Amino acid sequence: MKVVVIGGGVIGLCSAWYLQQEGHEVHVMESGDLTDGCSFGNMGYVSPSHFIPLATPGIVAQGLKWMLSSSSPFYIKPRLNLDMVRWGMAFWTKANARNVENSAAHLNNLLQLSRGLTADLQRDLPDGFDLIERGVFMLYKSAKTGEHEREMAEQAHGFGLKTVICTASEVQAYEPEVAVDVTGGVLYTDDCHLHPARFMRAMHQTLTNRGVQFHLNTTVNGFERNNGVIRQVLTNNGPLPCDEVVIANGSRMGDISKLLDISLLMQPGKGYSMEYDHLKNNLRIPSILVDDRVATTPIGPWLRIGGTMELSGHSTHILPKRVQAIYNAFRRYYPDLDIAPPDPAKAWYGYRPVTPDGVPYIGHHGQYRNLSYAGGHAMLGISAAAGTGKLIAELLSGQRTSIDVARFSPERK
Ligand SMILES: Cc1cc2nc3c(=O)[nH]c(=O)nc-3n(C[C@H](O)[C@H](O)[C@H](O)COP(=O)(O)OP(=O)(O)OC[C@H]3O[C@@H](n4cnc5c(N)ncnc54)[C@H](O)[C@@H]3O)c2cc1C
Repeated sequence: MKVVVIGGGVIGLCSAWYLQQEGHEVHVMESGDLTDGCSFGNMGYVSPSHFIPLATPGIVAQGLKWMLSSSSPFYIKPRLNLDMVRWGMAFWTKANARNVENSAAHLNNLLQLSRGLTADLQRDLPDGFDLIERGVFMLYKSAKTGEHEREMAEQAHGFGLKTVICTASEVQAYEPEVAVDVTGGVLYTDDCHLHPARFMRAMHQTLTNRGVQFHLNTTVNGFERNNGVIRQVLTNNGPLPCDEVVIANGSRMGDISKLLDISLLMQPGKGYSMEYDHLKNNLRIPSILVDDRVATTPIGPWLRIGGTMELSGHSTHILPKRVQAIYNAFRRYYPDLDIAPPDPAKAWYGYRPVTPDGVPYIGHHGQYRNLSYAGGHAMLGISAAAGTGKLIAELLSGQRTSIDVARFSPERK
């Protein structure tokens, strides 16, 4: 079949990978030139440990508290936007224990599938990217956070994940080169990390070599349809006939769905990152600084730090206080690693595709015979990309899927 994948982020490329392996003719339509975007500047974690959806009990109250501080890790820009209001209402109704119960096992299945497939991808792209298998630390300062993290570790054991619960001095023993100022931490040893831009480049290169056709600087701006079938994808560079369409355009998924008369809830969740290179001393293990919701990713002498979740639409405005807050938090946890304060104007930012229930959309949409969705992974796009691509290829090829996909339906209410 001729499959058109809309969006060349990590989800689009992984979908193209497995679709091409199934023998389909694959075309990737990408607005940009595949050098930047949410899939490039993120923290690069492949984390089976992230099986709890974003919409959890208590998150709304916590979010409202954070709203009162200009340096907190969460921000909603007040605005009268119907899509945002509808998304917010849905998020509000999903932020409960039932949503966690209905989602965690499915997210765990997707993340575990993906973890294994990402390791396979590393073998298929030997010069492409390193998968660094040292785990990810959840580090904390407050006793209350420590208690919560130890409870989370218990839940993780229920899904077969391994953890090491560490005192402050045990955390320090993992980091011989830098001082760590925490009260303790939980190391998730199944988690691993990669350099996302290197991964993206390796995928792009190998897919091109294998015959996948990339249409760069090409924006899909319409569809020719009749009788419940999409016949052509329309772009600024002309139309492209198709047998199947996979929408994988990240945080723009809600907008493109309107062109198909489909209402799909999606909001961009903006996050920032900064990077440092040639560090003499560096961390060994990536960490989430839980009290401050900041993440760190070291690779050799290179370090990336990042965080925040801003619901401000696709705004390009950078909030300097929140960028500075990421840096300040890092310095509080790693006080002797003397990195320069960030220039907010140079901070990288990307838009996570965020669904209201914290579960991605993966699967066929019944409004058209040949339409599927792959996206909405919020902070799990790298972690879940390989699994998502595999599922899309299985669905489009009429195969039994590796895991149950009903929970990921783009038509769920
Ligand atoms: C600070 C930060 C840290 C993160 N850390 C991690 C992490 O450690 N681990 C993890 O798993 N995830 C992480 N994430 C989340 C991860 O980056 C995203 O989930 C992932 O990149 C989403 O991939 P995507 O392919 O769905 O979307 P994108 O990467 O946004 O790709 C969508 C593509 O579609 C294109 N597009 C849009 N509209 C059109 C159109 N009409 N026509 C053609 N092309 C179009 C866009 O140009 C874009 O390139 C992080 C995110 C942020 C912001």
